[in-house]
Amino acid sequence: MPFDHLGLGPEALRAVEEEGYTDPTPIQEQAIPIVLKGVDLMARAQTGTGKTAAFALPILERLKGQANKSFSPARHPIRVLVVTPTRELAIQVHDSFKAYGKYVGLRSTIVYGGVPMGPQQKDLLGGVEIVVATPGRLLDHAGSRTLSLGQVEVLVLDEADRMLDMGFIDDIRRILAMLPAKRQNLLFSAT
Ligand code: AMP
Repeated sequence: MPFDHLGLGPEALRAVEEEGYTDPTPIQEQAIPIVLKGVDLMARAQTGTGKTAAFALPILERLKGQANKSFSPARHPIRVLVVTPTRELAIQVHDSFKAYGKYVGLRSTIVYGGVPMGPQQKDLLGGVEIVVATPGRLLDHAGSRTLSLGQVEVLVLDEADRMLDMGFIDDIRRILAMLPAKRQNLLFSAT
């Protein structure tokens, strides 16, 4: 099935075309229509299968109507939280959101450990709709009240199996406790 039969709008289709993708990968073909419906999804997909676009494209599509140019941070609450096990994956996923969302005016940022908190705090306090984060640093920011997760609409746990292997289960539990009960949950795991 071609990309333009999956329910994506012109902004997404244009971005995909510019990435040079001609056809969706199997995980994209299966996941995009489901994620667009706003329901929960648990999928098995290795890195390299196109799984990032499988969640990023429909998430951007669902939330594009919330984009706005207000200077008020309150008008840019965190609506999408993507949690990844490593800084490398966080960077990749964030780059993908920027590429796939280049025609959608939602703001995004990235949060990971091993670097100063300050610049991340500045981005978060300015208001961003999409946050890609590793668990520990996300909790550090939550503890210092630089971010609120009370308006998250979509949670993505990427490489969830690896997060468990790396011992992040308690951190994940603490993050889940900060999210609204009503939300869309997307879980991707290689195993
Ligand atoms: P991922 O599994 O999300 O890490 O993606 C792996 C690689 O596949 C990335 O370099 C993407 O740019 C690329 N990719 C994603 N979707 C497609 C597609 N439909 N056609 C060709 N390449 C793609």
